[in-house]
Amino acid sequence: MSEKRCALVTGGSRGIGRAICVKLAECGMDIVFNYQSGSEAAEETVKLCEAKNVRVLAVKADISKSDECQMLIEKAVEFFGGRIDVLVNNAGITRDNLLGRMKDEDLDAVLDVNLKGTFYMMRGVSKYMLKNRYGRIINMSSVVGVMGNAGQVNYSASKAAVIGMTKSLAREVASRHITVNAVAPGMIETDMTAVINDAAREKIMESIPFKEMGKPEDVAETVAFLAGDGAKYITGQVLCVDGGMAI
Ligand code: NAP
Repeated sequence: MSEKRCALVTGGSRGIGRAICVKLAECGMDIVFNYQSGSEAAEETVKLCEAKNVRVLAVKADISKSDECQMLIEKAVEFFGGRIDVLVNNAGITRDNLLGRMKDEDLDAVLDVNLKGTFYMMRGVSKYMLKNRYGRIINMSSVVGVMGNAGQVNYSASKAAVIGMTKSLAREVASRHITVNAVAPGMIETDMTAVINDAAREKIMESIPFKEMGKPEDVAETVAFLAGDGAKYITGQVLCVDGGMAI
């Protein structure tokens, strides 16, 4: 990497978000990440990143709320000395059910975090990136946003929307050397997928050409590539990290 960069990662306390923080720290980036409630897990991420000899700050913020996103962005800008080079919109939730049983609250909760949270963060951070004429925005979608999935009408809608926002913003900011891409993981071993029962897991496994689940580090490697200099001419793309699920 030609100069020292700094990255803001949402939902960095656990799972894929933690792996992203550690990988970007390994690439030499200073890190600010947020969590919603898991302060002990956040402390662990801080320690793992500090071991890579970078500066790290954990902030408690609910990204489904516009004012908390603004507070998070202001803290990051202050910590980084007036800029944010890389934004990774990783935080996300599921509230799965068949459509007939899905409550209004299940739709609202998922859209508030996955769709609106990503929107608030992109809007707030892109302002600084436009000023600096540099930026990398990486949004966490899902293969489910590309292919759909029974029992996830709300979640797949949010993840498909993330792809739409990614492509639109990519077109808006490309002339300022800001890239906006999405990563679409398949089945990755985290707390989110730990709740899937054995029968459902077996069925999912049949649909993965690799016949095995991915690791958070597999996704983090892809994010680091998109955040680095090697990806400077790639924008508006969706990279599936899914063992072939979406082929
Ligand atoms: P996870 O293990 O459940 O971790 C979610 C992270 O997001 C945690 O750090 C959590 O913080 C944070 N978070 C949740 N709601 C938040 C909110 N309202 N405000 C701020 N932070 C919040 O999830 P994961 O499996 O690593 O997934 C990460 C991303 O990848 C998500 O966008 C998910 O949809 C996507 N994805 C995952 C898979 C998979 O197989 N795991 C597949 C496709 C896409 P707290 O612990 O403090 O709540």
